[in-house]
Amino acid sequence: RDHRKLGRDLDLFWFHPSAPGAAFWSDRGTTIFRLLGDWMLETLAKNGYQQVKTPLLYNKSLWQVSGHWGKYRENMFLVLDNETGEHDFSLKPMNCPSHHLMFASRRRSYRELPVRYATQDVLHRNEVSGALSGLTRVRQFQQDDAHIYLMESQIVDEVRRLVAMIDYFYNALGLRYHAKFATRPEQRVGTDELWDRAEAILRDALEAIGMDYELKEGDGAFYGPKIDFDVEDAIGRSWQLGTIQLDYQNPELFDLTYVGEDNTEHRPVIIHRAIFGSFERFIAILTEHFAGSFPLWLAPEQVRVIAITDEVMDSARSLVAELADAGLRAHLDERAETLNYKIRDAETMKVPYMAVIGAREASSGTVAVRARGAGKKQEVMSRAEFIGRLKGEVASKALPVQG
Ligand SMILES: [Zn+2]
Repeated sequence: RDHRKLGRDLDLFWFHPSAPGAAFWSDRGTTIFRLLGDWMLETLAKNGYQQVKTPLLYNKSLWQVSGHWGKYRENMFLVLDNETGEHDFSLKPMNCPSHHLMFASRRRSYRELPVRYATQDVLHRNEVSGALSGLTRVRQFQQDDAHIYLMESQIVDEVRRLVAMIDYFYNALGLRYHAKFATRPEQRVGTDELWDRAEAILRDALEAIGMDYELKEGDGAFYGPKIDFDVEDAIGRSWQLGTIQLDYQNPELFDLTYVGEDNTEHRPVIIHRAIFGSFERFIAILTEHFAGSFPLWLAPEQVRVIAITDEVMDSARSLVAELADAGLRAHLDERAETLNYKIRDAETMKVPYMAVIGAREASSGTVAVRARGAGKKQEVMSRAEFIGRLKGEVASKALPVQG
């Protein structure tokens, strides 16, 4: 189930020594990446998020404000500024500071809170080359990142919404999960009073939702407590994916304010949150979780159309066109190979459906359908019925039957 092998064998992604820690995505891999990203963005749009894009390259003034220039510089890719002769630009290793600039770009009223920024911008972190491993440790990646700027009184409700969203995404993919509540670490910023309050609010939110959680004392971020989500994949391995982090520190560093009902300025609180984590790592986990047999909605190639003889090739072509019109991803195997070879190849590539066209199917407008994992079992149905069934399966994001 190694995603690096599956990535190659299923033609999804690979690596080249010319770009250590950065993946090459084929059309098939890009399709999975895009479908996950679109699913996330569509869901966020329905939940009051704004989709934003911010620059990838910043000069050191930003990293000095955020504190990364002092503490995190060796993990950043520094870029030479020809005008100063100094390496005082950096590719962003995270989106947070740029979203804070966005929030601070104009006056904010309490009426517009929570402000929720979502992005899938490209990030770079300078991991040592020895630590790089497939898609799980990379230097270039994209997170399903979001930052939420809100009043303290809104935190419980917002955490409730986030937990519901996390539940929706993980359940839809058949990933079981559990929550961990992480409290103040040894190395931290902010007063004990602030930490008391932040931890109490997050604990209240968890209690109000009635969710079971494991307490991880001392495991919080240095700027605030957090809830992490560990998912369990199909073969029982555990991965930390989602996170909901409260942050009282950056509103101070970036001097973020909003005008309250009392007409004076107040500090917002920030929630940093991710559900997939990075797309790269998430796709690695999903590839192994599904052993490459992605659910129909996520499968890069949904239908492999196979003509038994050259005489019915036109009929097979028209089926591919009909499937494409219905928004389905279908390919016709036109190679000069035997029927058995073509069937075996579609099985190897873990294509969810094969649509076989022979003389009988061509003349009657039907297809002989073979579902992935159903062996030689073949079902003849009309084209309309086949398309209707596939569209239903895509719309419901049905999970593959475990074979
Ligand atoms: Zn962040």
